[in-house]
Amino acid sequence: MHRLSSKLAILADAAKYDASCASSGSAPRHSVGGRGIGSTEGMGICHSYAPDGRCISLLKILLTNFCTYDCLYCVNRVSSNVPRARFTVQEVVDLTLDFYRRNCIEGLFLSSGIIQSPDYTMELVVEVARVLREEHDFRGYIHLKTIPDASPELLARAGRFADRLSINVELPTPEGLASLAPEKNGTAIRRSMGRMAVRIAEARDARREQQGAAAQPRSLPGAPARPAAAPAFAPAGQSTQMIVGADGADDRTILAASAGLYGGFGLRRVYYSAFSPIPDASRALPPAAPPLVREHRLYQADWLMRFYGFSHDEIVPPAPGPAQAGSASGGSAPGMLSLDMDPKLAWAVAHPERFPVDLNRAPRELLLRVPGLGVTSVDRLLAARRVRRLRHADLARLRVPLAKVLPFVEAADHRPGRLLESPRLAASFARRPVPAQAELFA
Ligand code: SF4
Repeated sequence: MHRLSSKLAILADAAKYDASCASSGSAPRHSVGGRGIGSTEGMGICHSYAPDGRCISLLKILLTNFCTYDCLYCVNRVSSNVPRARFTVQEVVDLTLDFYRRNCIEGLFLSSGIIQSPDYTMELVVEVARVLREEHDFRGYIHLKTIPDASPELLARAGRFADRLSINVELPTPEGLASLAPEKNGTAIRRSMGRMAVRIAEARDARREQQGAAAQPRSLPGAPARPAAAPAFAPAGQSTQMIVGADGADDRTILAASAGLYGGFGLRRVYYSAFSPIPDASRALPPAAPPLVREHRLYQADWLMRFYGFSHDEIVPPAPGPAQAGSASGGSAPGMLSLDMDPKLAWAVAHPERFPVDLNRAPRELLLRVPGLGVTSVDRLLAARRVRRLRHADLARLRVPLAKVLPFVEAADHRPGRLLESPRLAASFARRPVPAQAELFA
């Protein structure tokens, strides 16, 4: 037991750099009725927050942190001098079930260093999921991190057992990947993502067809027999992760890469992971981590692309020519998101010509561009304005941040006047410095 807990300490710690979140959807599955174990329903998968503020799930482990690759940014690279450990398949299965029964976790996130070969490693990872699903009827959430160089058959098999699959693109550009992870192949990564996207779409279409057939009346003479249940394939889709700040890629490059991944492969999520300096690091790496707020701003910008109709080009425009210098959104450096204000607010401040937006007339897509108005608030405003003209009090009732919203909207009894043109507008929104605890013995 002692051996197992030391392995767990090593392999859970080694997995903390993998970002994951189960909140973006999975197939409903549960053990109500006494069959199976686990559930993907209810309050969702447990999340935890690492000391640096990153959202992580509770049972997140590596099968092993031995690795034959030498990615410079990775603490588990072959040349790294860290304690190593390796679980057996049965150990991961037992740990998952044990934690699950004790209500400590709601799912498994399994990744691995690469041992012997990509196929050998991937087989072990898939076997964990197979044993959980087929031998223990485990109905909890399973996220498998896949190895892009593994055979397509193994990736297909992984999708049968996992809710979500992911392949890390690691870095936003091929140049960054070549310099920091020379054994990884950007083309192979994208090829595997493409194969997974096709299989996910096929499985989704087959399920839709099946649901359509199931809705037909049963007893029509000559009606075809109901088709067999379409096999699921990674119903929670695929995701990926990019390291931020390990290479010189700016935010514009990172968001352009994300936009390409969402558009090209239908990814559910791109996770951004601020580079953490590691022991005995290569000189090719920066000596310090990027500010964590940069990672946060990238998540906000990513949200704008997925749910608010912004393109990456709008969020971080191309570097301005000398004539427009100084007009970059939020006063940020060219190619970078402002650290001082969220990207939606920075865009609004940089585009006063697009405001004020009339709450009583503007279409949904324009309302979504107003700082401080989220998707839910916009839908409530749209519903309310069908029956009355919207006033200042309607905003107050929605509990939106009025100081942020009012300069950008007009309502039946509100006009922002010259607020929008005020040179002090941007300054009034700038992030206040976080107060620091004074040293007791300075
Ligand atoms: S393959 Fe994965 S575990 Fe191995 S060194 Fe690269 S990033 Fe680290």
